[in-house]
Amino acid sequence: MLRLECPNCGVRNTSEFRYGGEQNPRPTPSTEVADADWIRYLYERRNVMGVQIEWWYHRAGCGIWFLVERDRRSNIVARTWRWQPDGAAAAEGSHSP
Ligand SMILES: [Zn+2]
Repeated sequence: MLRLECPNCGVRNTSEFRYGGEQNPRPTPSTEVADADWIRYLYERRNVMGVQIEWWYHRAGCGIWFLVERDRRSNIVARTWRWQPDGAAAAEGSHSP
């Protein structure tokens, strides 16, 4: 069973979490964003078969959304961290399955 380390609560079973999809950074708000960039943001996913950064929500715990770097082939989680606007990692965890 896959276990994740919540940046607040520590390692828990995935039954406590909700998968939120791959990280898909929003284009910088501007009237100059091309339609193709918005379409890519809203509808297109990379669906990587390998290492991917994805959103997870700790629904049965502290209620935060956080990021997970996971290899989708092996389910090995390299690290988890709380999202920050500037990209800095405030709390980071890592574990082996
Ligand atoms: Zn938590």
